[in-house]
Amino acid sequence: MASQLSLIVPFWNEEAAISHFVRSILPVLDGIADTDWEIVCVDDGSSDGTLRELIGFCETDRRFRVLELSRNFGKEAALTAGLDAATGDAVIIIDADLQDPPEIIPKMVQAWRDGAEVVLGKRIDRSSDSLLKRKTASWFYALHNRLAHIRIPGNVGDFRLMDRCVVEALKRLPERQRFMKGLFAWVGFRTVSIDYVRAPRAAGMTKFSGYSLWNFALEGFTSFSSAPIRLWTYLGTAGALLSMFYALFIVLRTIVWGNPVPGYTSLFVAIIFFSSVQIISIGMLGEYIGRIYMETKQRPIYVLRRTY
Ligand code: UDP
Ligand code: MG
Repeated sequence: MASQLSLIVPFWNEEAAISHFVRSILPVLDGIADTDWEIVCVDDGSSDGTLRELIGFCETDRRFRVLELSRNFGKEAALTAGLDAATGDAVIIIDADLQDPPEIIPKMVQAWRDGAEVVLGKRIDRSSDSLLKRKTASWFYALHNRLAHIRIPGNVGDFRLMDRCVVEALKRLPERQRFMKGLFAWVGFRTVSIDYVRAPRAAGMTKFSGYSLWNFALEGFTSFSSAPIRLWTYLGTAGALLSMFYALFIVLRTIVWGNPVPGYTSLFVAIIFFSSVQIISIGMLGEYIGRIYMETKQRPIYVLRRTY
């Protein structure tokens, strides 16, 4: 029996890239022996002609499916929608901008048939990304993997193949704040990776600015580690110990030399230092409380307007 392959592709204002994408993906998929495929296109609230073009493909080829989200929910939510809808025995997540080369897909399928449950696309050359993006990304992974108990492999994006059992495991993770890279790593399974060279974007602009990447990184830390709040217990203890020694020192000095009343500077420095430290720690607590708040509301991760 032929196996079923589902491609999940998130689209947000990708009008310029769609036709390139479809033109390069079709021959690759048709070239894989013994497989039926479907492409689950998730329109993440595009405001340009993306949806219209996608529906066009849907009408000419029944293997295209389109999920239309009611607004822009972000790539993580779009991927979740795609995973919920995909029916294949294996699912491949791929960006619409051809930065993930379709030529790798047959190799991924081969590795899956050879027994892998997860096949990662690993970027061996990211020179198409800016130096700053590469550096900050590698710092993020280094720090994240030190703080959290799960390891996110470096230089791996969302581009990957997953067996049905992995998809079912992912669907059982109920969290609303979805840091997909972390969730993927959390479920585990037998994993292999395939190297590829990250191509420049085929058309259009990146959807992730510096600030949204920063928020994304915060999301990653707080979703999988409580080290950032635990840190304050240690800092507080260290500060308390130090101030005890300092108190002892001042008391002894006063007993020995009397009280000549300076000390304005040390007092002032201590006040501003410790109050700022407290505010930072409250902010950190707030990060987590905010996330608890978002989770307790139990809102759906995405809202569908229509499917085609
Ligand atoms: N994307 C999305 N919703 C968003 C942001 C991005 O569906 O809110 C999609 C986008 O259309 C593309 C993929 O996610 O298919 C990757 O985005 P992009 O290429 O901008 O990210 P980069 O490659 O720069 O990290
Ligand atoms: Mg891209």
